[in-house]
Amino acid sequence: MTETYPAGPGRYPAEAPASEALFDRARTLVPGGVNSPVRAFLAVGGTPRFMARGEGAWLVDADGRRYVDLVCSWGPLIHGHAHPEVVEAVRAAAALGTSFGTPTEGEVELAAEIVARTRVEQVRLVNSGTEATMSAIRLARGFTGRGTVVKFAGCYHGHVDALLASAGSGVATLGLPDSPGVTGAAASETIVLPYNDVAAVEAAFAARGPEIAAVITEAAPGNMGVVAPRDGFNQALARIAHAHGALLIVDEVMTGFRVSAGGWAGLDPVDADLYTFGKVMGGGLPAAAFGGRAEVMGRLAPAGPVYQAGTLSGNPLATAAGLATLRLADAATYRRLDDTAATVGRLAGDALAAAGAPHRLSYAGNMFSIFFTDADVYDYDTARTQDVAAFRAFFHAMLAGGVYLPPSSFESWFVSTALDDAALEQVAAVVPVAAQAAAAAGHGG
Ligand SMILES: *Cc1c(COP(=O)(O)O)cnc(C)c1O
Repeated sequence: MTETYPAGPGRYPAEAPASEALFDRARTLVPGGVNSPVRAFLAVGGTPRFMARGEGAWLVDADGRRYVDLVCSWGPLIHGHAHPEVVEAVRAAAALGTSFGTPTEGEVELAAEIVARTRVEQVRLVNSGTEATMSAIRLARGFTGRGTVVKFAGCYHGHVDALLASAGSGVATLGLPDSPGVTGAAASETIVLPYNDVAAVEAAFAARGPEIAAVITEAAPGNMGVVAPRDGFNQALARIAHAHGALLIVDEVMTGFRVSAGGWAGLDPVDADLYTFGKVMGGGLPAAAFGGRAEVMGRLAPAGPVYQAGTLSGNPLATAAGLATLRLADAATYRRLDDTAATVGRLAGDALAAAGAPHRLSYAGNMFSIFFTDADVYDYDTARTQDVAAFRAFFHAMLAGGVYLPPSSFESWFVSTALDDAALEQVAAVVPVAAQAAAAAGHGG
């Protein structure tokens, strides 16, 4: 479809007829019209855009509107949409058969790539980040013979029952304190602590150490907006957990292979027992993994007694997309992601400063988000001081100008290496207008 809208900020009207028609139909067929809650735009209002295709840095919606994509499928697409080498890898794999339910060479290659880039000695492939964290928790419980798990408020680890207490991401957006359907028994085996608070971890272990199987933490949280761990926080978790015979699970589903070749642990090494991966390692197809010390992973079936399985685990299309994505991701890739994230953040930050809109730009490697607040943000409570109305106005002005942001202020922004000068110029042209809208809508406006 050809672009029939005028260039410049405010080029797209709020009405989106094709997306609206699809959303109306979807709502009769799918709960809320979406297959993952944050896609529904509940936090920002309006109609979610139904995307028709992606081209490098750009998304094209059902109305033929083009957006610079700063979501990148929530992180996986470090090389942008439809990178020719990734597309070709998937095409070649599909031609050989889409699934066998047997071991394949691609799984071995992807496992080797993960082991080479990280500290894990062995790895098991699964289909989603949720499955990875769920399985890592089961393995930690099986290994230690204990039941309780420590997590941090605002950290999201997928929709695992035991981990849906004070989770960020869509749960934060919807303001659900907890989820119906998660039993009291599951929740009672979860201890939720404030993020970045070592003293709270020490106190929890002092009180209940012998029953704690594991601490799980996002390597660097991106699901309450981006909140970096304080220096030494992850290392303190390893020290405290190990002193009490518990395991540390570092969830790198978002950070893994995005913030560096070795994920967050590549920037900030930590002696964790298990790591979880997803998003980038699937290259936009469903693949995820958990891995760690051979002694722990060796307890997993069929090597050991802890059961875990999957009909489509290690799927040939997913492993092909993941391998192509990782093999393209060299040092230059990460330099470019870092530089681009710095540029986009600076453009937005400068515009907000000029407009007088209170904000905090928050980075963890090349993941970042903007909190519309004057307060320092270091945990979930401080993240929630942000002015959601200011974000909503900012989001819609960006959307109208052809820049697609995460439709919630509790999510990370993501860049790809495909963001070229034309894409950055579009961002630069739109942010001043969006910043004015945020300032006008905000509590201070
Ligand atoms: C996205 C995410 C998950 C869940 O992965 P899914 O593939 O959506 O199930 C788990 N942990 C973190 C840190 C994530 O960002």
